[in-house]
Amino acid sequence: MEKKIQAIRGMNDILPEQTPVWQKLESLLRQVVSSYGYSEIRMPIVENTNLFKRSIGEVTDIVEKEMYTFADRNGDSLTLRPEGTASCVRAGNEHGLLYNQERRLWYTGPMFRHERPQKGRYRQFHQFGVETFGMASADIDAEVILLSARLWKTLGIEQHVELQLNSLGSNAARALYKEALVTFLSQHEDKLDEDSKRRMLTNPLRVLDSKNSDVQALLVDAPKLSEHLDAESVAHFEQLKKYLDAVGVKYVINERLVRGLDYYNRTVFEWVTTSLGSQGTICAGGRYDGLVEQLGGKPTPAVGFAMGLERIVLMLETLALNDDVKSDVDIYSVLVGEGTDTAGFKIAELIRTELPALKMMHHCGGGNFKKQMKRADKYGARIALIIGESELAENTVTIKELHGNAPQQTVAMDELITKLARYF
Ligand code: ATP
Ligand code: MG
Repeated sequence: MEKKIQAIRGMNDILPEQTPVWQKLESLLRQVVSSYGYSEIRMPIVENTNLFKRSIGEVTDIVEKEMYTFADRNGDSLTLRPEGTASCVRAGNEHGLLYNQERRLWYTGPMFRHERPQKGRYRQFHQFGVETFGMASADIDAEVILLSARLWKTLGIEQHVELQLNSLGSNAARALYKEALVTFLSQHEDKLDEDSKRRMLTNPLRVLDSKNSDVQALLVDAPKLSEHLDAESVAHFEQLKKYLDAVGVKYVINERLVRGLDYYNRTVFEWVTTSLGSQGTICAGGRYDGLVEQLGGKPTPAVGFAMGLERIVLMLETLALNDDVKSDVDIYSVLVGEGTDTAGFKIAELIRTELPALKMMHHCGGGNFKKQMKRADKYGARIALIIGESELAENTVTIKELHGNAPQQTVAMDELITKLARYF
């Protein structure tokens, strides 16, 4: 036998047993964003490598070590998108969607990062994201946070997530803070691990992100970002908190929350859960007022977020919120006797035409009555539609409910649709 070819590590098949949860999740997400008036945008999965280098930042985990970058046949450097924001801004600039107008957009699809695969962390994963453009005031920050909060409510997981919030201030304020932080860190360089030493020189804010407990202990005495914020950013942040308080969205301030991507300023936030172990962030976002211009557009304020769908599916599974997902089949045809295969096809097609919301599965592959009834059961059908030779002769079919113990009933063909409709 030939050796089996396997999927790439960290790139998962989503199997038929799992797709119902995904479909339910995706349809709820679509429903919620459309209830806020957001429009969908679809971007390609591959972009020029420079797009991500220029937006996410050269000295970030993503660009330094996680991107799938390869040379196209004509030598151009291309990259499988590691996230959606950069592509969305690129598309917005390219098609004139952003200049001097407001946009509320959403997207979903696969993203690619070469990370160490583990629970909640994969090399191909799926994000659902929202990006808004053209609005600088804190009301839109509040809106995207409210929208995300509604998603958790709709999914029934709002008790299991916490909103963490911080402000990074203006670029100028952040630059001043960086200086203060570097001064502090270099006085304590002996207590830094290699990673933090490197970050201190290349991207000092990321030291605040360090998972090393010694570094975290040291940071207790470090200068605080909140004390370096510019007055306008402080006012913006206060206004955001007021809005969230007014609509009852709870949050905690996390002064260490800086986010791994370079393009953020002012508001940053994460939704975090404890029910997934260390891969606890299910949604992350913030304001990125400089990015549109940085990618060649006119200065345009922007705020958005992206959530990791695998992590949310894991949560739904962990919390057993996935078991009300419906089966694939409502009605299964059972064919007994001469000519019923052809007649069965016609009846099944008629049902699909007249009752398009129902899932009508037609038995294929022959076999006796018992075998076919077993199939109906296996597919979780609610009704077996028994099409027999003698019934056909009388222009009737038999409806048998598979759950409960109602007696089966034989109905005239011209009443079939009305009778079936009553069951669903
Ligand atoms: P982390 O700190 O977990 O690596 P991140 O800051 O790199 O996350 P973002 O770039 O902000 O993540 O992406 C937004 C969301 O996408 C994350 O909060 C997470 O839910 C999801 N996500 C990111 N990377 C992965 C991955 N490799 N596998 C699955 N989900 C992911
Ligand atoms: Mg990451």
